[in-house]
Amino acid sequence: MARNYLKKATLTAQSGASDVHEIVQGILSDIEEGGDEKAREYAVKFDKYDGDIILTEVEIAAACDQVPQKLKDDIQFAHDNVRRFAEAQKATVRDIEYEIVPGLIAGQKAIPVDAAGCYVPGGRYSHIASAIMTVTTAKVAGCNHITATSPPRPGTGVAPAIIYAAHICGADKIMALGGVQGVAAMTFGLFGLPKANILVGPGNQFVAEAKRILFGRVGIDMIAGPTDSLIIADKTADPHIVATDLVSQAEHGYNSPVWLVTDDRDLAVDVINRVPVLIDDLPNVNRDNAFKAWRDYAEVIVCSDREDMAACSDEYAPEHLTVQAKDLDWWRDRLSCYGSLFLGEETTVSYGDKASGTNHVLPTSGAASYTGGLSVHKYMKIVTWQQSTREGSKRVAQATARISRLEGMEGHARAADVRLAKYFPDENFD
Ligand code: NAD
Repeated sequence: MARNYLKKATLTAQSGASDVHEIVQGILSDIEEGGDEKAREYAVKFDKYDGDIILTEVEIAAACDQVPQKLKDDIQFAHDNVRRFAEAQKATVRDIEYEIVPGLIAGQKAIPVDAAGCYVPGGRYSHIASAIMTVTTAKVAGCNHITATSPPRPGTGVAPAIIYAAHICGADKIMALGGVQGVAAMTFGLFGLPKANILVGPGNQFVAEAKRILFGRVGIDMIAGPTDSLIIADKTADPHIVATDLVSQAEHGYNSPVWLVTDDRDLAVDVINRVPVLIDDLPNVNRDNAFKAWRDYAEVIVCSDREDMAACSDEYAPEHLTVQAKDLDWWRDRLSCYGSLFLGEETTVSYGDKASGTNHVLPTSGAASYTGGLSVHKYMKIVTWQQSTREGSKRVAQATARISRLEGMEGHARAADVRLAKYFPDENFD
């Protein structure tokens, strides 16, 4: 049986992408030329904010005082979980030292980047959890300087809970600057910041495009743009839970795709009927986002069997992948393209988004076909070194000289020859 689309998207993540490129390129060029003042102008233009860009200690303390104790406890709980998972990841990164041939030793070292720039989105929602995910992980990796930046709200500035989270997770500087101007300030080293070696964190299409354009002169974690989510469900799934989880992810934004892949047509129809009712029941802004995301970007696909469902899911390479089906071990073994996998009804993407410990900064728009999400590894450079005895260099020098000459690289060949002549003057290496 061919795949059957009970609902098909009318827009995709690429819709409008060329306009976004031009807008972002223009802002980046302006700020590179105009520096701090130009960045401030964009803060006024896009976020109607003309307050301090780098928050002072007094402003940070005042913001922390505004956060209720119960929320502080929850932020601490989430921070501890993310930190523990990041520490477990870091334990898998090992320096090595290996004798390749007698006398020739090579090694690998993992070195954290010096300065990390963490983008914490804040346009539609106050993404407290993004501060926890990006800053905590940079700290565990061992970065020397961590900046967190987030869009200020008109009149009120950055949400106090974001400031609190960035502060307790280890940010050295907290900046009230959103969108392209925030990303540019960290890359170009504005407002007295060190130039970032890596930019991390999710954001809207403007933030994602800025990172894409700047990649090369600065490292990036990945393109983590508008969230997307796919649910695989078979007939054992609870349609109410499936529909609720789809709506929970469509809420992210008007352009956040959600996809349902199933081999049970009845379940698909049931879920399609439930989703609009659940969307209707959301508060205003969330309802608008989820309504548009469901109307324009959502898809519901009926597949022939579980192998077909798995293949279909891998083609989408979703950022978030949920499986509500029997035989979860089979699914964990079989699936290969996703940012983060949520197995079974007892967990949900919301847990990973906020507090369970795995990172929520994840590849979107199919990037999960070639990369995973944010981890300590993204903040670390794996570099190599080598050292040799004279005896150890004997064979490698001969191979180097011959390969170099065949390539036409006489200078390389002579760098090997000169050593052979110095260390083994009585031998002939022709
Ligand atoms: P945001 O902080 O990413 O963007 C807000 C900024 O956008 C503003 O400060 C403003 O400077 C800029 N902006 C707005 N309109 C503009 C325009 N017309 N031209 C230029 N700049 C403009 O916040 P957001 O908009 O709420 O988006 C957050 C995004 O992050 C969502 O798309 C969400 O899905 C995504 N997200 C992704 C992940 C992930 O891991 N992939 C995790 C959490 C959130």
